[in-house]
Amino acid sequence: MAESVEIQEIRSAVRQLCARYGEDYWLDLDRNHDYPTEFVRELTRSGFLTVLIPEEYGGAGLGVREAAVVMEEVCRSGAHAGACHAQMYVMGSVLRHGSEAQKRQYLPRIASGELRLQSFGVTEPTTGTDTTNLKTLARRDGDDYVVNGQKVWISRIQHSDLMVLLARTTPRDQVRKKTQGLSAFLVDVKAAEGNGLEIRPIESMINHHSCELFFDDLRIPRENLLGEEGEGFKVILDGMNAERILIAAECVGDGRYFIDKASAYARERIVFDRPIGQNQGVQFPIARCYAEVEAASLMVEKAAALFDAGEPCGAEANMAKMLASEASWRAGDVCMQTHGGFAFAKEYHIERKFRETRLYQIAPISTNLILSFIGEHVLGLPRSF
Ligand SMILES: Cc1cc2nc3c(=O)[nH]c(=O)nc-3n(C[C@H](O)[C@H](O)[C@H](O)COP(=O)(O)OP(=O)(O)OC[C@H]3O[C@@H](n4cnc5c(N)ncnc54)[C@H](O)[C@@H]3O)c2cc1C
Repeated sequence: MAESVEIQEIRSAVRQLCARYGEDYWLDLDRNHDYPTEFVRELTRSGFLTVLIPEEYGGAGLGVREAAVVMEEVCRSGAHAGACHAQMYVMGSVLRHGSEAQKRQYLPRIASGELRLQSFGVTEPTTGTDTTNLKTLARRDGDDYVVNGQKVWISRIQHSDLMVLLARTTPRDQVRKKTQGLSAFLVDVKAAEGNGLEIRPIESMINHHSCELFFDDLRIPRENLLGEEGEGFKVILDGMNAERILIAAECVGDGRYFIDKASAYARERIVFDRPIGQNQGVQFPIARCYAEVEAASLMVEKAAALFDAGEPCGAEANMAKMLASEASWRAGDVCMQTHGGFAFAKEYHIERKFRETRLYQIAPISTNLILSFIGEHVLGLPRSF
């Protein structure tokens, strides 16, 4: 199970890069609702954010295993990888479903950092997890599609040049299967804003730059269709396993961050004339979290290995995301408890990471939906919806 030299080198290089952006950098961004523009630029220019882009399009051409290590180390450093993680997996929609012309047009410029593909628009206010029930409609009109509808929680759009948008091109009652009739588009965000696209930021619990989107006759050129018309669900679905694995890796990074912090504090903090970590009531919860995070990490590795080998990995990717998001949350809770009152002081950074890691039991897919996937598709239990 020893890590390859290449993985160790990636870990070490990402750690060094992140060390230049200390926790105060992230605290300031959180306080001021700012975006880590310099950090994302450096992560892109150093080639780490684009590891999944094939070499022929200017990336490193590495696998999800390497990408997962990048995301894990970013989170372990105290940073918030949610500011930039989407570029890794949204790019896969262009890579696997884009035409050769689209790949040549976009991927090298994404790899160089000239274009940012940080945003994907799927969720809608009235449909939630029931994705195929989404209402945003793209109607064909000459060489364009005309889009009307609404999206919610679309993150980083104000810091992205492109967005992958999922919309209905055929109403649900006119298709045989509910997954049919959806189409994916590449939207030029800067051209669209003010010309049929309105963006309204949502004030939220974490600094995730999420927005509501309103489409009012937004015109998208036909050449921006990704894949076949009506087959957009596949375009989005294909990126989902990578997304789950990478987010699970972020949670492993968060978990390790919390365990490092809790252990260090428990060794140093003296109460009743001894380190608090000498009390097993303080020590055991940290040790339990360590075991849980290590177990989740193994599932991340298994899912990534299957993904990179081109094997089915839906169950493993989902399990990795569920186990890692629960483990990181528990580690955050134990880290808070270990720090006592100081956990609430922003300068200790723990409360920010605690808020950030909570997201991953809900987005991009909630725990119940993962359990339902395992129940139905792995255990053969009756379908519930
Ligand atoms: C900070 C943030 C950033 C986000 N960024 C993006 C983004 O960039 N792009 C994007 O498209 N979306 C984004 N999302 C949306 C996110 O993917 C959804 O919030 C998530 O998928 C859950 O959907 P929902 O909020 O509509 O919950 P709902 O679908 O309304 O579900 C609410 C609760 O009910 C449970 N539930 C629902 N149905 C069932 C059932 N049949 N059985 C059991 N339990 C059920 C769910 O598990 C959940 O706990 C983001 C969300 C947040 C909070």
